[in-house]
Amino acid sequence: MGAQQVAERFAELYGAQPEGVWAAPGRVNLIGEHTDYNDGFVMPFALPHQVLAAVSRRTDGVLRLHSAEVGGGITELRLDGLTPQGDENWTAYPAGVVWALREAGHAITGADVHLSSTVPTGAGLSSSAALEVVIALAMNDLYGLGLPRWKLARLCQRAENVYVGAPTGIMDQTASACCEQGHALFLDTRDLSQRQIPFDLAAEGLRLLVVDTQVKHAHSGGEYGKRRAGCEKGAALLGVDALRDVPYAGLDEALARLGDEEEVVRLVRHVVTEDHRVERVVDLLRSGETRAIGPVLTEGHASLRDDFRISCPELDLVVETALATGALGARMTGGGFGGSAIVLAEATDVDTLTKAVEEAFATSGFTAPRVFEATPSPGAHRLH
Ligand code: ADP
Ligand code: MG
Repeated sequence: MGAQQVAERFAELYGAQPEGVWAAPGRVNLIGEHTDYNDGFVMPFALPHQVLAAVSRRTDGVLRLHSAEVGGGITELRLDGLTPQGDENWTAYPAGVVWALREAGHAITGADVHLSSTVPTGAGLSSSAALEVVIALAMNDLYGLGLPRWKLARLCQRAENVYVGAPTGIMDQTASACCEQGHALFLDTRDLSQRQIPFDLAAEGLRLLVVDTQVKHAHSGGEYGKRRAGCEKGAALLGVDALRDVPYAGLDEALARLGDEEEVVRLVRHVVTEDHRVERVVDLLRSGETRAIGPVLTEGHASLRDDFRISCPELDLVVETALATGALGARMTGGGFGGSAIVLAEATDVDTLTKAVEEAFATSGFTAPRVFEATPSPGAHRLH
């Protein structure tokens, strides 16, 4: 699927060529899970999988939306009728972005949109953020808004939090908007400062596999909210604005102060050690020790499984099998309770590993996983 095809389909649907075609990628998070709502560190990189949007402006206050991945034809919405949480459909994501832009004072007068995507949905690879960011970037360009990428990401997050009603952090939208090819993005979610960290796996004879377990997570569901509330409770008990402010060197002391709040202790321990793991991975990559990040990723998985308790049997099986078959490191990625795991491996081990994971799933009676290679790819951009 390329820009040309998306533009042709747009022309069939709306009777004229689009003014432009934009792309925004999904992402995987290398390390830094459930830290983004604790003002902490994350380190995603963009996938080659993208949402493409062919878009033209309108002047009559109407937003028309169509997705190749969803049946049901064109959805037509009036801009002045857009209200948060009034839409249970996929159209809430793009409509929410237009709502957030207008609410921030940007004069958008309508659009025709056709979308087509290769980002798997509900797999922890952030198809929702890709969908938001592609719309935001198209509006930014077409309406000459001149907003910087980080700000587009903020508005997309607002769309997802307020309009869609999913309480997500800032990582996914920033990754889709700001990542660069051949790099991972070291993002401080407190002040949104960014550093592009070279992450060229192929040059080192390495590969990063994504294993989509096909177990669907429910992101806006109760478990995510419970973890988030638990983290906030931990910060309050420790007298800090966010768990980011608990220093790694002072972790034992902080945990001792939490006393018998067993669940809060576990959540705090995950977040504080995870922030530290992100910093370790950054240091290792900057000093060229790419293979050495493997064990740090694996530690991250153990922390998510045992302390944060958001893994599932399928994710654990990927990690166990990969490590037993020679992977350098492996961890679940994304919100948890399903979705995807990542595996860092020598290029020469990829076939054996893939086969081993597929066989382990078959033996356990699990749905066959989808395994693909993730190469650090460009962030959102205009194609046409
Ligand atoms: P994730 O972001 O991990 O893929 P989410 O549950 O956050 O999972 O977002 C998935 C939702 O985003 C889908 O259920 C759908 O509403 C919307 N979505 C994603 N991609 C598309 C698409 N190509 N067309 C229409 N809706 C999409
Ligand atoms: Mg999402």
